[in-house]
Amino acid sequence: MITRARLSDRARAVIDDFANHPGVTPDHVGCLRAAIYSSPALAQNFDNAVRGGTLDRLRPLPESSSAGGTYEATHRSISFPLSKLNRANVDEATFVLGHEVQHALNRRETSRADQAFFDDLDRSARHDQDYTRPIARVVRAHRRDEASANIAGWNALADRLRQRHSDLTLEMIRNAARWRSLDFVERDRTTRELRPRGSLVILADGRIDPTPTNVEAMARAYVDRLPEATKLGHNGNSDYANHYGAWAISVAAQKHTTHHPSKPSLSMRVDLEQLHLDRSLLEQNGVDLGQRRQPIPLVDATGHPPTDHLLHHTAASHRFVPIADRPDLNGTSPVPARLARLGFASRPQLRTVTQIAATATRSQWPTSLRTQRVRSDFGARDGP
Ligand SMILES: [Zn+2]
Repeated sequence: MITRARLSDRARAVIDDFANHPGVTPDHVGCLRAAIYSSPALAQNFDNAVRGGTLDRLRPLPESSSAGGTYEATHRSISFPLSKLNRANVDEATFVLGHEVQHALNRRETSRADQAFFDDLDRSARHDQDYTRPIARVVRAHRRDEASANIAGWNALADRLRQRHSDLTLEMIRNAARWRSLDFVERDRTTRELRPRGSLVILADGRIDPTPTNVEAMARAYVDRLPEATKLGHNGNSDYANHYGAWAISVAAQKHTTHHPSKPSLSMRVDLEQLHLDRSLLEQNGVDLGQRRQPIPLVDATGHPPTDHLLHHTAASHRFVPIADRPDLNGTSPVPARLARLGFASRPQLRTVTQIAATATRSQWPTSLRTQRVRSDFGARDGP
């Protein structure tokens, strides 16, 4: 039996408004409507996100983007590539919208995690300049956000299919979700039957409850993939840890310099291995040191003894800077004290902590963070 979803006036207005954007045709809007109205679970979440004030508008993504969808917290908007919105693609639109709407629903929780991160960084900056724990905490929060969004995408699609097939099977969901299903199910080598991956529990009706156990299982299958599988970031070679980590270490670095403006040789400490971070991938993803562009001494606390690094501003270049390449050091290996003499002497123009906090929201992560994430998934799995 087909259950037709009901939406509030405000939620309907959000959909109607999408038609006003240049380039949006009735077919695009029709695909969106079909996705929302065919999946009561999605419609309910969409309505809740609009009512809750974390989703105000739907927007088209630029044609140059090949992303599946994005959620932008600052604009409270979800964006789609118009090329993917057509009547033949409603299953995909349902999954993507389910995923992005969940990001909107999670917004307050991720905002709290971000705020706690800023507070933690302040404490670490004052105390021992070791930013490992604050970074670990905030990355964990965003890992949960991402995993729960992916479960919601699956649930939105499963609910749409269930309206047509009372005997919904994993095979049907797999066929509709195509490559996205690889994060959820795998084929048993012996029986060739589909089964949930890892410890994920899929209910008999195809739903996945977002329990802590299932969110963790999804995080392992979806978020913790190796760089070769995720192909995230500006250069398409990053995993999630370094993708989120580039933002987190940028904020930590800006807090560090704000707290210690007159100590340019004071190192920040981070256990890179514990956080699964790699300076090359961080810098390729784009490290933003704020207005102060001089490299910051970074001690990787992983080993014994810890290793000295420099963290470079690469927000625009997205290029890893090997320390030995620095021409101003006469070929010698740089150490923080030497750099202090060479380049760090001038007092940088400082932004206030409030300014940092304002720019450190997720919208200011490499702005197309979510874009890159979804686009990369397409790249990795959709194939040519
Ligand atoms: Zn996402």
